Amino acid sequence: MVYRDLGRTGLKVSEIGLGGEWLEKQSAESVKAVIDHCAAKGINILDCWMSEPEVRRNIGAAIKGSREKWIIQGHIGSTWQNGQYVRTREMTAVKAAFEDLLTRMQTDYIDLGMIHFIDEKAEFERVMNGEFIEYVRELKKKGAIRHIGMSTHNPAVAKMAAETGEIEVILFSINPAFDMLPATENINDYFADDFGTNHSGIAPERAELYSLCEERGVGITVMKGYAGGRLFNQKASPFGVALTPVQCLHYALTRPAVASVMVGYKTPEHVDDAVAYETASSEEKDYATVLAGAPLNSYRGQCTYCGHCAPCPSGIDIPMMNKLYDLAVMHESTPDTLRAHYKQMSANADSCISCRACETRCPFGVKIADKMESARKLFK
Ligand code: SF4
Ligand code: SF4
Repeated sequence: MVYRDLGRTGLKVSEIGLGGEWLEKQSAESVKAVIDHCAAKGINILDCWMSEPEVRRNIGAAIKGSREKWIIQGHIGSTWQNGQYVRTREMTAVKAAFEDLLTRMQTDYIDLGMIHFIDEKAEFERVMNGEFIEYVRELKKKGAIRHIGMSTHNPAVAKMAAETGEIEVILFSINPAFDMLPATENINDYFADDFGTNHSGIAPERAELYSLCEERGVGITVMKGYAGGRLFNQKASPFGVALTPVQCLHYALTRPAVASVMVGYKTPEHVDDAVAYETASSEEKDYATVLAGAPLNSYRGQCTYCGHCAPCPSGIDIPMMNKLYDLAVMHESTPDTLRAHYKQMSANADSCISCRACETRCPFGVKIADKMESARKLFK
């Protein structure tokens, strides 16, 4: 298992994580079997957004005795009322649900205290300027949460969170289908039957978000990495071609700032399927060729940081160079930190000899030599 830095938190998380949702409505024994298997495979981060009491209790029982080995991503604002999940900002319910989480998980702290599910800008402002964030700060102060995070599906809200300097982790929905879509406050837009066919690559606000998070040290954990399974089905896929789970995982894990993908498992075999990513060949991980040849929608002309263009005779790490350039152009003037990073590269755009050998290997038709030239001028 590969472990990655979770932004600036100081935590190292397994790049394949455990999303708890599929553990609902399962027996305590089944939950324990899945969690034990995750631990045996090196998974060390688990997300529990669910408020349903039984699943919380089962997860708590399963990690009893090994609590310290787990990084728990727990949610604040996810409550259980009258037998059902309710997302709320009503503080009596919020506080009771968080206390319930601690009790049922048999712990006195949650590593990542996630402000649960904000997709609207106005709601973000209300939360960050009211009693909700005061409560979250209080939890952090007394050690009941170690880091403040937030979950959202909206890149515009995620960007606001990353800019606070206070929110260190964002649980964000990432897959190649969602990545084409512009920001929206309506989650149903992401699950619409018809994605349209005129999208061309990653929506700019998403590319900007990933770069911003990388720059600010905000760690991203990923939800909905399989787009609810529709990417596995040629007819349902907005690309007109099917992707495999390993390809979807690789797509998410090659976005800047991403540390771990939360995958749902019902059985130990499901865990094995996801952990197979760790030993998959580069051909098996290759989402780029599939997307580049897709009949519907396209990522043409845009660098997805897939690494297909290697090797460069001048030794340039082309995806890294492109990431740095894409990050730099977001700014009116190039920050010193990026200049320093550029200088530290053993080979950067200055080393490009414009041989264009890389371009014949880029499935997305990126004009790499031109991009290197632009980067050279930018970092001059
Ligand atoms: S330039 Fe092309 S091949 Fe290279 S990382 Fe970007 S998209 Fe992939
Ligand atoms: S064009 Fe530049 S970046 Fe591409 S392979 Fe040649 S030297 Fe490397």
